[in-house]
Amino acid sequence: MTLAHSRSKGARATDLRIEFMSRVRLVSPDLISKEEESFNRTLRPPSLEEYVGQRAAVEKLSIALQAAKQRGEPIEHTLLYGPPGLGKTTLAYIIANAMGAKIITTSGPALERTGDLMGILTNLGEGDVLFIDEVHRLPANIEEFLYPAMEDFKVDFVVDKGMFAKTINVPLKKFTLVGATTRAGSLSAPLRNRFGLFFHLEFYSVEDLQKIILRSAEILKAKLEPAAAEEIARRARGTPRIANRLLRRVRDFAEVKADGRISAPIARQALQLEGVDEKGLDELDKKFLSTIIHNYHGGPVGVEALSATLNEEVDTLVDMVEPYLLQIGYISRTKSGRRASEAAYQHLQIPRPSSDAPATTLFD
Ligand code: ADP
Repeated sequence: MTLAHSRSKGARATDLRIEFMSRVRLVSPDLISKEEESFNRTLRPPSLEEYVGQRAAVEKLSIALQAAKQRGEPIEHTLLYGPPGLGKTTLAYIIANAMGAKIITTSGPALERTGDLMGILTNLGEGDVLFIDEVHRLPANIEEFLYPAMEDFKVDFVVDKGMFAKTINVPLKKFTLVGATTRAGSLSAPLRNRFGLFFHLEFYSVEDLQKIILRSAEILKAKLEPAAAEEIARRARGTPRIANRLLRRVRDFAEVKADGRISAPIARQALQLEGVDEKGLDELDKKFLSTIIHNYHGGPVGVEALSATLNEEVDTLVDMVEPYLLQIGYISRTKSGRRASEAAYQHLQIPRPSSDAPATTLFD
């Protein structure tokens, strides 16, 4: 169930974000169109059994769910963290499904006034799941309002102002807050301490992404060969959302340029046409790497300088470009800035000047 609130303000915030994101890239880990949201919904695995990969998180979560069910209690407040598109929202829905509870979704920036949150909290039933995406972006006053709700299942609501102000203590049903964040480090300590369960989602292996793509193809009734699923998986930057998006582009290509059957060569051709190379890098990634290499002699260079040279927001570079390049070891992040690694030079086929220091590790 979604409350009227999350359809109004929440939807507006999402629309704005999507409008911004739609100017962005096929390999963006964030949602790139409104329509993609509903497409994603149809592909969401409904249970932990169908949730591919993330073995450590899945095992811990399935024990926590079983224990909560045996005690007949709601599962503890849960924090899911990791880069966008890895399945945090999906897990929140799985938790609600497993507990036989309703889920209400909103996001940090959509909650502006305590009254908004008050309405949501007082409508929650016993065991319901309140999912707050981007929980690190909750305004401070909303966060403080949440503390007693999370801890003691009550809220202190102030009515009237000045000398007429009165605090009303409102009891709540025992609910579960599931928070999702891409930046666990940005969460305040008091909020973080009120979560009982923590799950860190990791980038997916090519094998897991291949399974996800084959599962999605079955739901979409696309004729996909396993070798083609592997081609797509290799370019999906460890991210299921990107894997599903690439699958759609490839399916369109196969329907128009071939007989609809998706073979490995068709997948390769389609993705080449989309500007996604065999490592899943697009123009922005390559520009990012070649700027470090050509303009800054391979680094180190600060992200602000890169942002100015590339004419891209710092946040775009930090959230959308760097995580994957770090993951595949094409850059390292040091105290003095970003450096391109040997592998990055090789991938771009740029000879490394002999006077350059050898590639650094993550720890220097
Ligand atoms: P996040 O909330 O972390 O941004 P989502 O939960 O919205 O990511 O996941 C994006 C899409 O990727 C979902 O629609 C779902 O279809 C797919 N997905 C994510 N994780 C998995 C998984 N482990 N197994 C299968 N599909 C997944």
